[in-house]
Amino acid sequence: MNPWRLSLALTIAIATAGLSAQTGGTPWTTPTLAEVNAIYADIEALYIDLHRNPELAFQETQTAAKLTRRVEALGFDVATGVGRTGIVAVMKNGAGPTVMLRTELDALPVGEKTGLPFASTVVTKNASGQSTPVMHACGHDLHMSAWAGTARLMAEHRDRWRGTLIMIGQPAEESGSGASAMLNDGLFTRFPRPDAVLSLHDDDTMPSGTIGYHPGLFRAISDTVVITVYGRGGHAAMPHNTVDPVVLAARIVLTLQTVVSRENNPVDPVVVTVGSIHGGTVGNVVPDEVQLQLSVRTYTPEVRARTLAAIRRIAKGEADAAGAPRGPQVDLPFPSSAPVYNDPVLTLRLAGALKKGLGDANVVEMPQKMTSEDFAEYGLAGVPSVLLHIGAVNPANLAAARQTGIPVPAPHSPEWAPEREPTIKAAIRAEVTALLELLRGN
Ligand SMILES: [Zn+2]
Ligand SMILES: [Zn+2]
Repeated sequence: MNPWRLSLALTIAIATAGLSAQTGGTPWTTPTLAEVNAIYADIEALYIDLHRNPELAFQETQTAAKLTRRVEALGFDVATGVGRTGIVAVMKNGAGPTVMLRTELDALPVGEKTGLPFASTVVTKNASGQSTPVMHACGHDLHMSAWAGTARLMAEHRDRWRGTLIMIGQPAEESGSGASAMLNDGLFTRFPRPDAVLSLHDDDTMPSGTIGYHPGLFRAISDTVVITVYGRGGHAAMPHNTVDPVVLAARIVLTLQTVVSRENNPVDPVVVTVGSIHGGTVGNVVPDEVQLQLSVRTYTPEVRARTLAAIRRIAKGEADAAGAPRGPQVDLPFPSSAPVYNDPVLTLRLAGALKKGLGDANVVEMPQKMTSEDFAEYGLAGVPSVLLHIGAVNPANLAAARQTGIPVPAPHSPEWAPEREPTIKAAIRAEVTALLELLRGN
C-alpha cells in the first residue's frame, strides 16, 4: 500500500554503508572561477542550442544525441536508449566509490514568453498526437549544460579523483516516468551500481548561484484526482426540472478548501488545488455532468490517505445534498509519485564540502517544497540520493519581488528565464565539488 515507507527506512539504514566520510588529510577541491570561465563559452553555446530546441518527454532524441557526442568525446563509455531515450555515460578511474550525477532531458508543453533572443518557437506533437508549443520552462537545459561542463572538468582532471563516475541523462521527468523507465531498463544492474546519486535543480527563491540543501523529506507526494459529478440536464430557464451539476461542482470546490484549513493538522503540509473544471457548452442549457481535476500534495502516507478520504467524502456529501441522480465518480488516474528523500548524512556531508568550496554564504539550508520530482525513484531503489537546488534569479529582481510581494516567474512559467551565466558557472562548481567530495582518492 505504501511502498516508500519501507524503502525510506532502508535508505536511512544504508546511508553510511557505501561512502566512508572523509576524515581529513586530502585537501578538498573546487574548480576555480578561471577554470570554469575557460569552458563557459562552449557551455553557453550548448545552453542556447538546447533552449532553442526543446523536446518533450520521451521525445528527447536530438537532446540525448547532443549530450552523447560531448561525453563520448571526453572519453566516457556511453550507452544510449536506456529507458527509451536516456543516456548513461560511465568513466572508470581506478578503485573507489561509484557516484552518479543525473540531469533531466525533457521540456514542457508551454509556449515561451521570455522575450529572449533565443526563445523557443518549437511546436510539436504530444504523446496524444495534439500540436503543442514546447519550452524548457523548468530549466532542464540549464541542468544539462552544467552537467556537460561538469563532465568536461571531471574528465580533464582525472588526477583529482578515484572511482567510477556515471553521468546520466534522464528522460521524461515532467511526466514522472523517466527515472523508473531507466531503472526498469537496468540502470542499477547493467551499469555499476552507484553508492550515491546526485542531482541539481534550478530554483526561483534564491539568488543566482546560491546552493540550497534540505536533509530528509524534500519534495512531496503528488496525486491527481478526477471527480465527475452528475446532475440532470435541461433548459436553463426551467431550473426546477434539473439538478444542476455546475452549482454542485462549485460547492465541492468551496468545501474542499476546508480539507486543508479545518481537517488537516496545520503542522502537516497539504495542498489541494482544483486546477481544472469543465462542464456545459452554452449558457442556456444545464449540463448533465461536470468534471473537476485536482492536484493533491502531501508528505506522508497517513496524511495522504486522510486527505483523499476527505475529498471522496465531500464529493459524495455535496452530491447527496444536491439530490444528484447518482453519486460522483472519484478516480486517481495515475500512480502517485513518491516523496523525494534526501539522505541526511550524505546531504550534510555535501553541504559541508560545498560551504568550504563556495563559501558559507552561498550554501544555505532551504525549506521543503510541495512540488514533486521523480528523482525520488533512485532513493526508493535503495541508493542514498541528494537533490540540491540552485538559485537562478538576479538578486535585484528577487529583492524587488520581496518588497512588492509579487513573486518572480518560477519554473513551469512561460516567463521562467534563469539568469544563465552566474547560475551555470556556480552549478558546475557545485557539481564538481560534490563529486570530488565523494570521489577523492584516499
Ligand atoms: Zn518541472
Ligand atoms: Zn524540473
